[in-house]
This record gives sequence, structure tokens and C-alpha cells, in this order.
Amino acid sequence: MQTGSNSTARWKASDTRHHLHPFTDYKALAEEGGSRIITHAEGVHLTDSEGHRILDAMAGLWCVNVGYGRRELAQAAFDQMQELPYYNTFFKTATPPSIELAERLTALAPEGLNHVFFGSSGSEANDTIVRMVRHYWALEGKPEKQVFISREHAYHGSTMASASLGGQAAMHGQGGLPLPGFEHVMPPYWFDYGDTLSPEAFGEAAARAVEDKILAIGPEKVAAFIGEPIQGAGGVIIPPESYWPEVARICRQYDVLLIVDEVITGFGRTGHWFASEHYGLKPDIMPLAKGITSGYLPLSAVMVGDRVADTLVREGGEFFHGFTYSGHPVCCAVALANLDIIKREGLIEKVQNETGPYLAERLRDLSDHSIVGEVRSLGLVGAVELCADKANRTHFDPVGKAGVICRDHCIGSGVVLRAVRDAMVISPPLIFEKAHIDEAVETLRRSLDLTAQDMGMI
Ligand code: PMP
Repeated sequence: MQTGSNSTARWKASDTRHHLHPFTDYKALAEEGGSRIITHAEGVHLTDSEGHRILDAMAGLWCVNVGYGRRELAQAAFDQMQELPYYNTFFKTATPPSIELAERLTALAPEGLNHVFFGSSGSEANDTIVRMVRHYWALEGKPEKQVFISREHAYHGSTMASASLGGQAAMHGQGGLPLPGFEHVMPPYWFDYGDTLSPEAFGEAAARAVEDKILAIGPEKVAAFIGEPIQGAGGVIIPPESYWPEVARICRQYDVLLIVDEVITGFGRTGHWFASEHYGLKPDIMPLAKGITSGYLPLSAVMVGDRVADTLVREGGEFFHGFTYSGHPVCCAVALANLDIIKREGLIEKVQNETGPYLAERLRDLSDHSIVGEVRSLGLVGAVELCADKANRTHFDPVGKAGVICRDHCIGSGVVLRAVRDAMVISPPLIFEKAHIDEAVETLRRSLDLTAQDMGMI
């Protein structure tokens, strides 16, 4: 493919003219001269159209778990495309890759999640869940159990139902969201909501907010609670250890289904196949996507527990829901090859025993920085919270400005990190070595210095 300044200028102009990007301010993008064009990637590095080599400490969008340039995944796609490039899974048909992947996922997932419904994206998975759960309660003779409870700052996707499940105020400000039947409670975000409580006491208080909401709505109307084990796109909010056991207990007490969204945390990110293992969770339903194929092809899976699936099977009647690409054979074949790589290369053990603890240690080194209020991580996902006043956990004004400045300094220095409000977020490929962590953290430290200057702190 042609690269260099000539093609870069042409691509940027054409992109700005014709291409509406996700989550983008189109006016600002045009004024800033258009997009960065990524043309190639290998291992943990991206190359842009001007030949810059960039360390990808975000694994794309938290998804390229096995890193870029895996010939084995390309081969799996090629072979499956030759054998059977497409067939659907509607109308009593199936394909070998979709069957094999369903079996493999149920063997890996937490106990009881023995059934799989496929889609192409995390959003589709969560929309599927909303429809399936409401259908389940109707079949159980409790059609009034319709309401979903989620958290502020949650991200569950961009479709109407998944964005309603999400707790992103900016998203809710557009298009009349959330839809009726979606309620939100305080997230287990000690840095912002913890006030004078200890993290553990705050974790219990945040769990109680779930109980209070169930009681306010009426348990007979609450279908399910949904939460990411760690709220990723909301800023890598890692709950105090007291939070999840209490939420799980409350869900059981009021007969509310527990949905654990592992779209980011699945497939090794936290040093386990699923973060549910770390928190001792037994979800009724668990959506998966991203790392399932390491982002090489679009695929999602709703893992459905015996309780819900048994009712669907016992009661019968068609579930009027599905996608053309549910169980796409090429995507499933790539997912199987991707799971092979994760297992064969011991990537989960590597995160748990080596790189996860090392990332935690290196991030801790940043705690003494004048604009760092908190560092947090689990496995290979972490955040560095920037603030104006460490002692009082006071944010910069306006919130989000320092984050963008710091992110731009990082990218300008050749490392992709992300800013969520003023939290600098890291979520690299699971093949990251200690030297890559050093490079990312040292670049972040230099960027923090520059950000402190830009914000008038030095
Ligand atoms: N759930 C979570 C936890 C996510 O982080 C995301 C995407 N970042 C989604 C769902 C939606 O996935 P998709 O973008 O594939 O629709």
C-alpha cells in the first residue's frame, strides 16, 4: 500500500470529506486537519501513514489481546473462507466452528454458563441480553420483572438498549436515552464518590445503593443488575474488594439476575480467563466480545446460565431475535485459533504472575507525582487519576482538559494511552513485556510533567 506524505494528505482530505467516525466531534476533527491514518501493525506496535512507529498500550480498543500480525489467525480465516465462508445459524442449521466455539467457551466460563448466543459486537450482545432476560421473566410468569439496574459511568455499548444500560451522561444527552426501564446507581468509584469513607466501607455503601434502588423500584419489577467487573470505558474503575460479594448477595436475596459484562475484562485481561474468577462471581449471564478474536474479526457471545436457558428450553416458543452474522463461521474459526494462542503461550499466567504485578509496581512509582491523585490496576488494565489537589482528591477544572493534554503528549511521544475524563488509562496487548511497560510508564511520567506545566501547576 502506498504510504508517505502524498497519500497521507489525500487520505486525510478524503476521510474528512466522506467518513463519519464513531465518538467524534466532526467540526473539531476537520479543524485539526483530520485523522491519524494507521497503515500497519506488528506485535505491540502500530505504524502510521507517515512512518511513525507507535507503542499501542491500549490494544486497539482494549481488544488485541494476542497482539498484531498473527499469521495463524489469518490462516484460520483463509482456511474457513475456503471451506465455508458463510452460513447462518437460523432455521435449525449450525456450522462446525460455531458449535466448537460454543463448547469451548462453556468449558472456559464460570460454572453454570453452559449456553451461548452469538452476535457481532458487545452492543449486540447486550441488546440480546435485554430481550432474552425480559422474555425469560415472561416465561417464568413474571412479565412485570422488566427493569434493569446499572451504574453511572458504565459502558455497555452504543445501540439504543445497550446505551440505555450504560451510564454515560453524554450519551444519554442525545437521542432520548435512556429508554424507560433502565435505572442507574452510584458506581464503586472511591476516588470520586468515596468522600471520607475508607475504600472498603465505601464498597459496601456502593453495594447498598443497589439494594436501595431495588427496594425503591420494587423487587417484583427488577429483572437484572448489570455491571462490568471493572468499569473500563468509564475510567478503569476498580471496585473495593467489599463491593462484588455484597452485590451478588443482594441480587440473590431479591431474585434479580446478575449480568457481568466481561467484554473488556474477558480473555486474560485481569490475569484470569474472566474477571469473575478474581471476584468469585457466578453470573447468570455474561456478555463477551473484543478479546474473543483479539479484534481480528467482529464477534460477541452471550454466555447464558442454566437457570435462564433451562426455562427457554422447557417453556419453548420461538425467541424472535438474532443476527445475520450470529455464529459467523469465519469469526468463530478465528476465535478458536485465538483461544489456542492464549492458552499455548500462557498469556494468562504471564499477566497474573509477571506483567500484571510489574505494571502495578511501575504505576505505583507515579503516585508521588504532583498531579497524580491515585493509581489503580488489576492484571493488564490500569488507570492514573490526574488531579489538581492530591490531599482532597480535587479534579482539574474543567474536568477532562488535563487528560486530553496528557494523552496528546503521550501519543506525540510514540505511546498510545487513553484519557477518560482525567484518568489516564492503559490496557495493552497481553504479550506486553516488562520493557514495554517501562516505556509506557516512563513516557507517561514525562507527559505528566508537561501536563503539569501546561495546567500552570509548575
Ligand atoms: N461492554 C463493554 C464493557 C464495553 O467496553 C464495550 C465496548 N467498549 C461494549 C460492551 C460494546 O462493545 P461494541 O463496541 O463491540 O459494541
